[in-house]
Amino acid sequence: MTTPPSPIWHPFTQHGLGDAIPLIARGEGARLYDADGNYWIDAISSWWVTTHGHAHPKIMAAIRAQTEKLDQLIFAGWTHAPAESLAAELIRITPDPLTRVFFSDSGSTSVEVALKMALGYWFNIGEARSRILVLDHSYHGDTIGTMSVGERGVYNRAWQPLLFDVDSIPFPHEGMEQATLDALEAACLQKPAAFIVEPLILGAGGMLIYPAWVLAEMRSICAAHGVLFIADEVMTGWGRTGTRFACDQAGVIPDIVCLSKGLTGGALPLAVTLCIEPIFQAHYSPDRAKTFYHSSSYTANPIACAAANANLAIWRDEPVQQRIDALADAQAAHLAMLATDPRIANPRRLGTIAALDLVVADAGYLSALAPRLTAFYRDRGVLLRPLGNSVYVMPPYCTGADELAEIWAAIAASLDIA
Ligand SMILES: *Cc1c(COP(=O)(O)O)cnc(C)c1O
Repeated sequence: MTTPPSPIWHPFTQHGLGDAIPLIARGEGARLYDADGNYWIDAISSWWVTTHGHAHPKIMAAIRAQTEKLDQLIFAGWTHAPAESLAAELIRITPDPLTRVFFSDSGSTSVEVALKMALGYWFNIGEARSRILVLDHSYHGDTIGTMSVGERGVYNRAWQPLLFDVDSIPFPHEGMEQATLDALEAACLQKPAAFIVEPLILGAGGMLIYPAWVLAEMRSICAAHGVLFIADEVMTGWGRTGTRFACDQAGVIPDIVCLSKGLTGGALPLAVTLCIEPIFQAHYSPDRAKTFYHSSSYTANPIACAAANANLAIWRDEPVQQRIDALADAQAAHLAMLATDPRIANPRRLGTIAALDLVVADAGYLSALAPRLTAFYRDRGVLLRPLGNSVYVMPPYCTGADELAEIWAAIAASLDIA
């Protein structure tokens, strides 16, 4: 199962630990297979992207069909049918105030675009606003801009000198929600450009969940002060939290929304940043200086758009919501079985995402436990990647009851090695 010596430098991987790196040949549903037919259950949806399962036949067919027509097109001043239908459908399924779709190719770039849109808006209407408000423990990507609006820590210490200043709002821990709202209110008085937030659950920050009413209150505070509200739904979008978008269950309509990961069902890289009309209008002018100067080579790649259109068709045509509801219930049942075990703490769940903390002395992101746990699960045929001492399960919606039971059996067994 180990790869031969390889020149590849893997992301978020400490090669110095000498861990085996499985060589995957094939994926189907919730399973990843090596060339010998051994399989791993993909309990984290290949880093939160795979929603309907690997190699979903409709998505694969859409990709194949598109490769017969158009592979790539410059998107500055040109367009194509897959992007047009995708944009129209995204506008149809999101709240009315969101009227414009800007394409990019990863979650990080969709956030960069959101920040640039926000500052471009204030710049073009001639109001001096440039500070960004963030929530403690947030994660918005690994580019310089997105690291700037994310939690500072060991994973970005070397680049600290390049990161721009932001104002941090405390995370709304249970019982401390009012402190968060008060801090946001005070920060909004300083006329910042925007507040960026992961709605309802902070993913990379440790699957930290906060209630919908807090999200709704934060949104109202921003609205009252004219501060642009950016929802980073890169992880939460496409059903993870139980509704298609996390903002839906809070009745929140953001000014800017970032979507990626599950946009293509997890098959190809693609992202969009949706915004309200005034942001577009602030850039709309015969004056070329007001152009939104952002692009990447593969903006709205036609094959990726075709995969996204297939994803949206699956949401229309298949009982995706029922699958999500069933998976959420099953996750709740498995979590309940471990919830009273003294070796775990903070069992928590939002929609299809379940998480718990292992009680250890060296808690935190660099907990020595995490690599040991990852290896333990891998050896048991389960792909899990704990965040420090927090173990979470975020499987594709096609995961079967037997597969889910295998995942949770591995977690239960791992309590003995903690
Ligand atoms: C994964 C993630 C990103 C970054 O997406 P990439 O595609 O990895 O660049 C941004 N925001 C959130 C909330 C994420 O979970």
